Amino acid sequence: MRWVRRATAAAVTVTCGAKLLLITANDEWGDVYYSLTNLWPTKLTKKTKVVVLGSGWAALSFIQKLDPEKVELKVISPRSFFFYTPLLAGTASGTVCSTSIIEPIRWHLERFSSPLPASGSDFFQGECTSIDFLHKQITCTRHEIDQDLVLSYDHLVIAIGAEPATFNIPGVRENAIFMKEIENGLYLQNKILEILEHANTLHALSLVPHTGSDDDVKQRFESEKKLKELLHWVVIGGGPTGVELTAELNDFIRNDVSKYFPHLSDHIQITLLEATGKILGMFDPKISEYAQKTLVDHGARVMCGSAVTKMTSKEVELKKMTGEGSSEVEILSYGLVVWAGGITARPIAKKIAETIGCEQLPPGRPFRGLLVGNKFQVKGLESLSAPSEKDLNHPCVWAIGDCAVSGCPPTAQAAFQQGNYLGRMLRDTNFDSQLIDQYRPFEMRHYGAMAYLGASQGVAELKGMLWDQPAEEGGKTIIEGTGAFALWRSLYFSRLLSNRNKAQVIFDWFKASVFGRDISSPYNLHPPPAVPSLPPASSPSPLVVAVSEAPGRK
Ligand code: FAD
Repeated sequence: MRWVRRATAAAVTVTCGAKLLLITANDEWGDVYYSLTNLWPTKLTKKTKVVVLGSGWAALSFIQKLDPEKVELKVISPRSFFFYTPLLAGTASGTVCSTSIIEPIRWHLERFSSPLPASGSDFFQGECTSIDFLHKQITCTRHEIDQDLVLSYDHLVIAIGAEPATFNIPGVRENAIFMKEIENGLYLQNKILEILEHANTLHALSLVPHTGSDDDVKQRFESEKKLKELLHWVVIGGGPTGVELTAELNDFIRNDVSKYFPHLSDHIQITLLEATGKILGMFDPKISEYAQKTLVDHGARVMCGSAVTKMTSKEVELKKMTGEGSSEVEILSYGLVVWAGGITARPIAKKIAETIGCEQLPPGRPFRGLLVGNKFQVKGLESLSAPSEKDLNHPCVWAIGDCAVSGCPPTAQAAFQQGNYLGRMLRDTNFDSQLIDQYRPFEMRHYGAMAYLGASQGVAELKGMLWDQPAEEGGKTIIEGTGAFALWRSLYFSRLLSNRNKAQVIFDWFKASVFGRDISSPYNLHPPPAVPSLPPASSPSPLVVAVSEAPGRK
C-alpha cells in the first residue's frame, strides 16, 4: 500500500506544481486573489450592462475575466464562434480539421447563468453598424431581418479586429483567396483538391495517342499550358501567415499528393512572393535567412523584393526589384493565388472614428484603427457625452485587439493580453471610474514569436537568454529546426482554449502523420467574400427595436 500512497502523493504534487506554474506563467495570481475574496458574492440589485462587439481573441479573453455576478453581458458578432487563427494554415492543407479550431461563443456565456436571455446576458449573431455614444446605444443588423436591434450599454468594448489589406491593388479583391477567416481555410482546401482533380484529367488527356492533326497539336499545347498554370500556386505575403501556409502546402505535396497523384506532384510549383527584401521581416535576420533556405530546400520558390501590382483571374503582375533602384515587370500565370498581405481597419471602425471626430482621424495619416489611451479607453469621446451626465469624463467605451491603435503589434498574443487586462481592470475596480483612474496602465509582455517551416522544422525567437547566446543576438534566444517545431506545436497546443479542441487537434495531428491528410472534398463551396461588406447604413426607422432590459427581468 505504501507505493500507492507515494504514487498518489507524487501525482498530486505534480498536478499542483503544474497548476501553480501555469498560474504564474499566465499572470493569473490576481484572478486567484479575486476568486478567494469573492467566495460569497453579494447579490447585486443592478448589474452593469456590458456590450462586447466581436468574438475573437480580444473579446473572448475579456469575457473570461468578467464576474457574472456583477455583469449583464451582451456579445454581438457576425461569427458565432471563437476561431484559433494560428492553426488556419493547417486547415487549408488538411493537417487539422476546421471544426477542431473553433468553439461556440455561447460556451463562454454559460457561466453568466442560464437560461441566457432570462439572465440578461446573451449572444446575438449580427454586425454592429452604428454607435450612439450620447445615448449609449449600439445598433446591430442581421442580413435576413429587416429590423435593427438596438442595445443599450453602461460599458462598451469594441473588439472587432481588422480585415485583409489589399492596398487597392487592382484585381486582388476579386481574384485572391484570403487567409483570414475559417471559411477561407475551408474554401482553400476545397479549391486545392478541385485543382488536383482537374489537373489529373488534363494529364490523362495528354496520354491519349496523338492523331497528328493540327487541331490535336493545338489542343495538346493548350492542355499542357493549362496544366502548368493549374499547378502553379502563388502565396503572396512573406509574413508568418504566408510562410506557414507555404510550409503546410509543401508538406501536403511531399507527403500526400506524391502518394495519391504521383504523376502531378513533381509538377506543382509553389511561389512565395514578398514585397520587401526578406521573409519573416519582424524576426531576426538570421531567422529570415534560415526560413527562406528551408522553404527553398523543401521545393518552394521564394521571391523577395517582388511587389504585386495587378491581378487578373489567371495572372499576377509583379514589380521585381533588380538592385540599385531599378525594377522590372514580371507576369506569373497561376492556378491558385492566396493573399496573406497584411491587415487594415474595418469600415465600421472608420465609421465609429468619424462619429467621434477629429481626435480619432489625425489629418494626413492613413486610418489604422481606433486611438486608445494606455488603459484602452477610446480617445476623443468626452465631447460626445451629454452635459447632464455625471460621468462626463468617465471612460466607458473601450477598444482592444487589432481594431485599436495602442502601440502593440496586431497579434493574438497582444489581443489576448489586452482583453485579459481590460476584463481584470473592470472587474477589480467594479467599473468605478475613480478606481479605474488609479489602476496601473497596460504593459505588453512580449514572449517571442515562432513560425512553422514544414517537414517538422520551425523557427522561434524567444525573449530573454535561455543559455549563452552570441553577443549579436543580445537579449533573445533563437531556436531553429526540430526543437523550434516541437516548441511551436506544444505552445500552440497549450494555448487552445477548450479541452475538446485540444483533444480534437491532437487527434488531427496524429491522424495526419499516421494515415495522411484528407484528400476528399465533400463541399461545393463558393468563395467567401474577400472583405465582408458593411450592410447599408440603417435609418432610425420605426422598425428599430430597443432591447435595453432583459426580457422577464425585474
Ligand atoms: P479577431 O480575432 O479578428 O476578432 C474580431 C471579431 O470581431 C470577429 O469575431 C469578427 O467576426 C467580429 N466583428 C467583425 N466586424 C464586426 C462588427 N461590425 N460587429 C461586431 N463584431 C464584428 N497572432 C499571433 O500572435 N500568433 C499567430 O500565430 C498568429 N497567426 C495568425 C494566423 C492567421 C491566418 C491570421 C489571420 C492571424 C494570425 N495571428 C496570429 C493574428 C491574430 O489572429 C490577430 O491579431 C487576432 O485575431 C486579433 O484579435 P482580435 O480579437 O482583435 O480580432
